[in-house]
Amino acid sequence: MDALKQTDPEIYDLIRAEERYEIESVRLIPSENYVSRAVLEATGSILTNKYSEGYSGRRYYEGQRYIDQIETIVAARARALFGAAHANVQPYSGSPANLAVYLALLKPGDTLMGLALPHGGHLTHGWAVSATGIFWRAVHYQVDRESQRIDYDAVRDLAKKERPKIIVTGATAYPRQFDFKIFGEIAREVGAFMLADISHIAGLIVAGAHPDAVPYSDVVTTTTHKTLRGPRGAMILCRNEVAEKIDKAVFPGLQGGPHNHTTAAIGVALKEAATPAFKEYGHQIVRNAKAMAEELLAHGFNLVSGGTDNHLILIDLTNKKVIGKKAAQALDRAGIVCNYNTVPYDPRKPFSPSGVRLGTPAVTSRGMGVGEMRQIARWIDEAVAHADDEAALARIKGEVGEMCRRFPAPGITA
Ligand SMILES: *Cc1c(COP(=O)(O)O)cnc(C)c1O
Repeated sequence: MDALKQTDPEIYDLIRAEERYEIESVRLIPSENYVSRAVLEATGSILTNKYSEGYSGRRYYEGQRYIDQIETIVAARARALFGAAHANVQPYSGSPANLAVYLALLKPGDTLMGLALPHGGHLTHGWAVSATGIFWRAVHYQVDRESQRIDYDAVRDLAKKERPKIIVTGATAYPRQFDFKIFGEIAREVGAFMLADISHIAGLIVAGAHPDAVPYSDVVTTTTHKTLRGPRGAMILCRNEVAEKIDKAVFPGLQGGPHNHTTAAIGVALKEAATPAFKEYGHQIVRNAKAMAEELLAHGFNLVSGGTDNHLILIDLTNKKVIGKKAAQALDRAGIVCNYNTVPYDPRKPFSPSGVRLGTPAVTSRGMGVGEMRQIARWIDEAVAHADDEAALARIKGEVGEMCRRFPAPGITA
């Protein structure tokens, strides 16, 4: 990055500092990852120079001879990898992708039904502070108080009572698998569209480490930068019957020119995700999460739903007498990066909730395995127990850094 260093040393230094931070810390934010060098190169390419409103072969700008080929290839890879009839690869990110789906399939004021935010749902599933909760009437299902898992009978009852036009499944903080088949049946029973937002688990689905969503959904949205390990962006996969509406909602409904450098990098990520190595990666993410959960349980941690069968873990810290924010900050000082999070039926407020959320996609990308997960869990236990002890946190940080040096960071040192 010589040119950047010359032109803007201030930004250059901060990027280098972030790079060191990503190498030296154990990154457990479940929505983060390390992209490959190839994905980084496509993201940083000259494709950022181009405007190309419209779709391949139907552009509003001349000069699309290469851009059209790129978008055509990327959309074909998306359809093939997910087994979808249609793919739109232009959404700028996950939130605009969901907004585009509602714009396509709902009228303002129509009812949408999604998982409540404090129970693991996403803001864009109709939460009140989101545009999706302002322009549409949102109703929310929750997880069961005892099992802390989705109660499908309650979902069906709510759907029958509220008659939503669309049912949204998917989550940002739900440690169990979704039964997309049942959601599809419920949607058909009440005449609703079924949207599966697989942002967090797309990479697991591709790897066969989580049940598929496409066969049971009218529309599937996903970010491309989480377990799928691509650039920051999103895709919408759908049945042919709604394809035209979806495309029109993305452009011109919501967006202007697509981010072609991102589209190209999504294509690279999709190619990588089609390999046997990626399948193994997806399964290892889950094995790692289960191992970390097991070790945390052995140290007396209370896990939402009692464990995990995907890539993430939600710890309810109430019994440890530490609030989520304080634990997350102590862990960061110990070189372990995670985020504070609400737990279902949390008596505390969202900006200072009872839990923390952990995930294994990024550490698994570095090649860390079950043994490292158990070690990380023990460090988490120590850091939470010594959240006020700077010497203890500094000592853990040293040990974390030592382990991290043994595992090259994709895109940076590998
Ligand atoms: C991350 C996420 C989104 C939003 O993606 P952004 O790219 O942050 O806008 C939407 N839905 C779910 C379930 C997510 O996990």
